[in-house]
Amino acid sequence: MRVVVAGGAGFLGAHLCQALLQRGDEVVVVDNFITGSKRNVESLADRPGFSFEFGDVIDGVSIDGAVDAVMNLASPASPADFAVIPIQILQVGSAGTKNLLDLALAKNARFFQASTSEVYGDPEEHPQSETYWGHVNPIGPRSVYDEAKRFGEALTMAYHRTHGLDVRMVRIFNTYGPYMRPDDGRVVSNFINQALLGKPLTVYGDGSQTRSFCYATDEVAGFLAVLDSDYVGPINVGNPTEFTVLELARMVLDITGSRSEIAFVELPADDPTQRCPDITLARRLGWQPRVPLRRGIEQTAAWFQAQLDGGE
Ligand code: NAD
Ligand code: UDP
Repeated sequence: MRVVVAGGAGFLGAHLCQALLQRGDEVVVVDNFITGSKRNVESLADRPGFSFEFGDVIDGVSIDGAVDAVMNLASPASPADFAVIPIQILQVGSAGTKNLLDLALAKNARFFQASTSEVYGDPEEHPQSETYWGHVNPIGPRSVYDEAKRFGEALTMAYHRTHGLDVRMVRIFNTYGPYMRPDDGRVVSNFINQALLGKPLTVYGDGSQTRSFCYATDEVAGFLAVLDSDYVGPINVGNPTEFTVLELARMVLDITGSRSEIAFVELPADDPTQRCPDITLARRLGWQPRVPLRRGIEQTAAWFQAQLDGGE
């Protein structure tokens, strides 16, 4: 297949491009580096079948030649970005998604939408299954991301119903691993870098809120299982083993051997109290996560340590 990956220079994009190239697909990345990294794509530049086009998908997307699939990962994803670039997040989730849907339509290609567990907001159903409609504050600080992603799902379904476009949708739950930005602001990259640098680990609130963390290679294997399936979705892709944020902080300290303290700081507004995917549907496609949190954190900490040492 020839696959366009919008947002391919980001954390998950980098893992996805590697997995697609590994199985023999051609990859065309479109990215504007707003939260991605040139380094993530530079390391792929020599791989046969890989090409990169700098561009902002909000302004339109033009790709020469045949395309079999368009995968839309383009969107800032860290809550730390929601207050800093809120308009860009709304634009990429709306205009950006529309431009990529139009590209898929013009090329007669399959469209893959990277949606999010954030469509469930601060969920009142636990664990969250795909039939749950969510509990989102439409004007809160997270709304720029949550509502953009909900709009993206609605638009994807409208193209499917109106134009018969072949679509797939995944709802991604918290994912971590190498290629995250150290200053990304998300919890795993924050805790590991704080621990490695001997700084206090910033636990927001009392740390009793839960998340279910999926290792990046597992997550991307889930994307490919959905892409290759006949199932439109949306389909949850995440690791259903739930941890409190405080448990995560203690695990990071244990793995890194850091003597950093834990600092309890103010909980951001609308921070979801609990989050855990029901992955019954994804399991039916033969997919399930394989990397336990402890092993994934060990691998991620080793990668961040190598970055700090000036390594790869
Ligand atoms: P990321 O910020 O590392 O990657 C996003 C990429 O999209 C970056 O390379 C960025 O430069 C690019 N991008 C953003 N706006 C763009 C635009 N207008 N034009 C072109 N490129 C643009 O984030 P990530 O964690 O890799 O997330 C990838 C996708 O997965 C996002 O759509 C995100 O919403 C979704 N997601 C991720 C998680 C997670 O835990 N990582 C959870 C839920 C959903
Ligand atoms: N969090 C934290 N310390 C940090 C960053 C995040 O305690 O330095 C908490 C945050 O309040 C949330 C959880 O960790 O409850 C996951 O946050 P993240 O930003 O990774 O993703 P979210 O699930 O909120 O989108």
